[in-house]
Amino acid sequence: MRRGVVLSTCEHLLSALRGSGVDNCFIDLDNIEIPIMDGSSEDFIALIEKAGIAEQKAARRVFRVLERVAFEQGDRKMSIEPSEKFEIDCVINFPHPFIGKQTFRYTEDNAKDENPHSAIRTPQSSYGREIASARTFGFTHEIDMLRKANLALGGSIDNAIVLTDSGMLNETPLRFADEFVRHKILDIIGDLALIGMPIAGRVTAEKSGHSVHASLMSKLLKAEHAWEIVETFN
Ligand SMILES: [Zn+2]
Repeated sequence: MRRGVVLSTCEHLLSALRGSGVDNCFIDLDNIEIPIMDGSSEDFIALIEKAGIAEQKAARRVFRVLERVAFEQGDRKMSIEPSEKFEIDCVINFPHPFIGKQTFRYTEDNAKDENPHSAIRTPQSSYGREIASARTFGFTHEIDMLRKANLALGGSIDNAIVLTDSGMLNETPLRFADEFVRHKILDIIGDLALIGMPIAGRVTAEKSGHSVHASLMSKLLKAEHAWEIVETFN
């Protein structure tokens, strides 16, 4: 909210940019809310692929974790520790027949284009393959509450997986059996993108959510001995 401008629901777009290895871009918006699209990052990835990515002749700054930092709030836990890559280990647990306990390990991998002479490359990322199309999800009772408060009026099965007590309202199948934990990783990547540069570190998250992600980041940024900013041409 620097300069008094609020921008909401930016995490899926930031997640797509970070997942594709984009550091610099110009985004033109005519509203204070990023469109929710289908509740995933798939459309943003398609746009990035269409535009292509140009490599710049400048060093990339990377946020390198040097010491483990952890945050806990009841049974919600999140930590980050040193690693050469950006990795996320995530566990979610919802008492619902479609979810239950799901775990997923994501390792960032932005393979380079086969043509090294081309200035524009097409992103071929592990993010695009494993994470981008996982949709957000909600429960019918939450949506009823939001509607009463005049919120989420555009929310529907077109932009989320909507779960009832024992099933879901969507008529098309899940995109992955573990789509829920994959979307949680999508959110973590988007929230951590607010650090402002790629992260070299291993994240472990258990039952986390946006407020836990924000709390871990604040704690990490305050622990100045726990990280350094390095320049790389990779
Ligand atoms: Zn999300």
